[in-house]
Amino acid sequence: MDPRKRIEELKSAIARHEKAYYLEDRPEITDVEFDALLRELGGLEEKYPRFLTADSPSQKVGGGVSEKFSTYKHNPPMLSIDNSYNEEDLLKFDERVKKGLGKTEVEYVTEPKIDGLGINLVYSSSGRRLKGVTRGDGETGEDITGNVLVIKSVPKSMTFEKSWNQVEIRGEIFMQRSDFEALNEERRKNEEQEFANPRNAAAGSVRLLDSNVTKERKLQLFCYSMYIFDEKGASIENVFKTHFEMLQKLRELGFPVSERVKKHKNVDEVLKEIWAFEKDRHKLPYDTDGMVVKVNGFADQRELGATSKFPRWAMAYKYAPEQAETVIEDIVVQVGRVGTLTPVAKLKPVFLSGSTISRATLHNEDEIKKKDIRVGDSVLIEKGGEIIPKVVSVIISKRPRGAKPFSMPTNCPSCGQPATRAEGEAAWRCVNRACPDQRLEAILHFVSRDAMDIEGLGPSTVVQMLEKGFLNDCADVFRLDYAKVAELEKMGEKSADNLRIAVETAKGRGMQRLLAGLGIRHVGERAALVLSRRYASVDDLMNADEEELSSIFEIGPKIAQSVAEFFKDAENRKLIARLKELGVNVKSDASKPDSQALQGKTFVVTGTLEGVSRNEAKELITRAGGKTAGSVSKKTDYLLAGSEPGGKLDDARKLGVKIIGLPQLREMLGE
Ligand SMILES: [Zn+2]
Repeated sequence: MDPRKRIEELKSAIARHEKAYYLEDRPEITDVEFDALLRELGGLEEKYPRFLTADSPSQKVGGGVSEKFSTYKHNPPMLSIDNSYNEEDLLKFDERVKKGLGKTEVEYVTEPKIDGLGINLVYSSSGRRLKGVTRGDGETGEDITGNVLVIKSVPKSMTFEKSWNQVEIRGEIFMQRSDFEALNEERRKNEEQEFANPRNAAAGSVRLLDSNVTKERKLQLFCYSMYIFDEKGASIENVFKTHFEMLQKLRELGFPVSERVKKHKNVDEVLKEIWAFEKDRHKLPYDTDGMVVKVNGFADQRELGATSKFPRWAMAYKYAPEQAETVIEDIVVQVGRVGTLTPVAKLKPVFLSGSTISRATLHNEDEIKKKDIRVGDSVLIEKGGEIIPKVVSVIISKRPRGAKPFSMPTNCPSCGQPATRAEGEAAWRCVNRACPDQRLEAILHFVSRDAMDIEGLGPSTVVQMLEKGFLNDCADVFRLDYAKVAELEKMGEKSADNLRIAVETAKGRGMQRLLAGLGIRHVGERAALVLSRRYASVDDLMNADEEELSSIFEIGPKIAQSVAEFFKDAENRKLIARLKELGVNVKSDASKPDSQALQGKTFVVTGTLEGVSRNEAKELITRAGGKTAGSVSKKTDYLLAGSEPGGKLDDARKLGVKIIGLPQLREMLGE
């Protein structure tokens, strides 16, 4: 191999991958693979120093390469906060809080809601070393310490009190509007792609390979919570009585806290602040999209607890999104991976809330009829919580003459087969399993980064493979004839061989990614993780019925139903069998229990346990082969109850379920 040629290849590959990182926060290869490229380049340059140039990425990164990125488990998890979009929802939240606490008035704290990147700063008393971790999925984040260390407003150490051993401080990293605009201005000059919005810019910047670049990005920090642990790792919970008090302490310790934090006697005061801030927020140098409302008292917060997703003591009030006017140039119908036909509007590009919009989803036939949306119409669009904007309304006075009402095609635009619309459903669906677009979407989803993560199977390649009959379903990915693959357009032997390696590697990804890739309705990354923790393999999961599935903590009835339906289908069972035959690992890594002490026993956990969170207790149980459920039923073997156990204790007594405490659990675990 010509070393000079290889060095050039590596340089351009590294530049390309770095760009994918910078821009989209969407790398095409894993961190390990990226590091391998860098190492190979460094090795070659060392061997052939005459080919070393000043612009080589090996020179540029100079010590700034983070060891990208080890993971860190948040304790407690970084839950997201439930949203409300109007006053009624907020008042209902207040009612629930008051009812839950048995009080007639509750004190709240409000904080502006910044659209940034959640961060967990972990300080330990030994050596005062700081660790910075992204929010990740809320449970596990990426350790990005190297890049956090270069953010000016992040304190690099903190003052500990005697009994404190570790402190976790949560906050939000963001970029001010002016810094964002300056950054994009520079990128335009350098002919680099611009960031879509300040949030993307901030997220991309903290995950950079080169912390020297992160340093130039002028990131900001606001902190909003603090968890203190003693040397046994138990949480110390009596340091502050209120959230407000804790925020003041954070400020005292040198952590930036929003200047707009306020305490309120009751919900009426909260509403006044929300109205006032709606006007003021545009004067701030950074973007906000709402107000976070939190119950002030920590004892109250603990009493209210959390659902599987959200704390019950906090609510985010979101302001109505900004709107823009544009024109619908065309309406096209897309076929999704489960056959749903979705009408999509092609828009005259328009700038809205920080990005340029050229498409909007029209959801379904009824939605179009209700709003009477026609090609040629001028419309108002807005960006809500979703990434894809939606059409709010048609400006009828601007409708061009002769604009015709839109009618959904009765045949699938991809395969031409008649589409059907089931009673009670809004969507038209193509039920032809052989439908090309469905297959394409299903396979692209299967190989995508969040699922089986197979590099080298982009849309154009998969389209060719479908046309040539190499692929019919996901399993065929594992039995490609690479001699034929090499002959595809833009392929060649080398790419085909790389693809072969990627496919072989993907066989071992395991149950979670496989589940996420199968396209089971409502089963995304999170549900796939939960299921792969509960079941040892896809085979075990296939034999679970709907009732059992819906008893799993975090698996709702919708998910339970669609999983059960998916595996009832003979075709899908065949698909799994073929995947197994082809050597795809359908076993779970996550569910490997440490011991079998609690095998076959189902637990429900309630109340405040001493020294461990409820989630930790659940993990202790699952690791020992036990199961946990969200509510007490006849199937429950034990109720693990801490202090203030609430209604579950009554349920357990009524059903005669055995009630135990943490010491008994530890005994059962043989600790
Ligand atoms: Zn079709």
